Amino acid sequence: MTQMLQGLMQDDFPLNLHHIRRALRTKSPDARVVTHVEPGTVTSATFAEVHERVDRLARVLKRLGVEPGERVGTFAWNNQRHFELYFAIPCLGAVLHTLNIRLFEEQLTYIVNHAEDKLIFVDDSLVPILEKLAPSFQTVKQYVVMGDGDAGSLPGALRYEELLEEAGAGEFDYPEVDERQAAALCYTSGTTGNPKGVLYSHRSISLHSTATLVKDGLGLGRADRVLAIVPMFHANAWGLPHGAALAGADLILPDRHLGAEPLASLISAERPTLMGCVPTIFADLLRHAEANPELDLSSLSNATCGGSAVPRQLMKDFEERHKVRIFQAWGMTETSPVATFSRPAEGEHDDAYWDQRAKQGRPLPWVELRLTDDAGAEVPWDGSSTGEIEVRGPWIAAGYYRDESSDENFDAGWLRTGDIAAVDEHGFVQITDRAKDVIKSGGEWISSVELENELMSHPDVVEAAVIAKPDERWSERPLCCVVLREECETGAQELTEHLRGRVAKWWLPDEFAFVAEIPKTSVGKFDKKVLRARLAEDELEGRVQLS
Ligand code: AMP
Repeated sequence: MTQMLQGLMQDDFPLNLHHIRRALRTKSPDARVVTHVEPGTVTSATFAEVHERVDRLARVLKRLGVEPGERVGTFAWNNQRHFELYFAIPCLGAVLHTLNIRLFEEQLTYIVNHAEDKLIFVDDSLVPILEKLAPSFQTVKQYVVMGDGDAGSLPGALRYEELLEEAGAGEFDYPEVDERQAAALCYTSGTTGNPKGVLYSHRSISLHSTATLVKDGLGLGRADRVLAIVPMFHANAWGLPHGAALAGADLILPDRHLGAEPLASLISAERPTLMGCVPTIFADLLRHAEANPELDLSSLSNATCGGSAVPRQLMKDFEERHKVRIFQAWGMTETSPVATFSRPAEGEHDDAYWDQRAKQGRPLPWVELRLTDDAGAEVPWDGSSTGEIEVRGPWIAAGYYRDESSDENFDAGWLRTGDIAAVDEHGFVQITDRAKDVIKSGGEWISSVELENELMSHPDVVEAAVIAKPDERWSERPLCCVVLREECETGAQELTEHLRGRVAKWWLPDEFAFVAEIPKTSVGKFDKKVLRARLAEDELEGRVQLS
């Protein structure tokens, strides 16, 4: 038998965050982190300055007794201090636990106790939320307040800037970290049951960060100015902070100023080239831009949108009217999160081109994907057969942190995503629904996402969320919850006419609900759970039945 011949490369070079941290100082010391601290006021620091503060922060953490493997929580907006914590905590061998500031109180208590956080770093503006919960946290020994604001009733709160000042200057002697060691922890928003912890390793973050630099993906490069709107507490802000650090791109952070107006001013003033956020924020921005034609958002030549299906009309309107290009990504907390990206070949921007742009795109390098049916058999990639997406790859979760129900979500090395999709012969994924949102009518499936997309292409519709309504004959039928533009009185009949010809006839809804607002989850997605509950309790407003 022939013997295996080992390669002669530096295969032991660790894929860890020390490399990205060092790059701040050595490769791009002049790149900048800019934070929108107060309306119209930004602060900015070079990567070299940030690295100097990361050294100080590491010393502080060590002095506070943080040991490798221990979890350190952050309760913070997207800002420079949060960015510093992104490096200091994992580079000490500890685990950065980004707490979702918008979770329900019981869920926050659950995740802090489940993760056994030892310390929590909190923005002063968020102290009022956290102080109420502090008595329910069983393992937290210390709070560190970031900013000069009131520390409220947080017991023995320390001050970030004072600690950094006391820590003194000079390089920190970081411990070695194994690339498989845990670096960061993020709980999924938990639409059902308790939130589940996704525990990223140094290796998974390093590889995912590298993938943000891929041209057919987010395409982040040194010349970019990256505006990370997607929260740093949600799947590491889609890898944008790490990607910017690795590439040497400027990073612009909005802090708590997330309304369309402050965001639009930030964009006009800072001229970001790349930005990441969910469709609802893009939709708000578009409305704001339409009402304020003097605004120039055209620096955004390469924005990324995801988190839920990105309406085609939103991308087209932005591109054709405001020269803002938005590309769609798909993924989940468990996939670090970017798994697919839609960047079809440029050419004529005809319907076929926009069809591809409206899909969730191709798997990134190192991400493998398959579709399976209810019996577990593989579904062909023919553009129309649908099945559940299963993914695998080096930045895909292999289990949940201390969770016995983990197995249900994994299938022999593949992550079961719960997303239903078709894949075309070019490898472009099109999500048709979440498994639990799909409308099962007469044994066939109706895609709520597609109906929503078509509804949102109507000029009078601001938002649309489609849910299943129980039906004796068909088992379920679609009910369209619609938010109309102010002062519009478009009726159910007109919207149905709009859908006719765009979707199969049997998909046409039986009922509309004209609502003031679509409820949103803690990460800004349509919360259909709430709509379904309102329907069940007969509390859904503005219902109009079609005969
Ligand atoms: P989360 O873990 O909170 O980021 O949620 C992940 C889920 O968001 C996915 O499983 C999808 O259901 C949904 N999602 C993310 N990106 C997209 C997209 N581009 N289109 C449709 N659904 C998406």
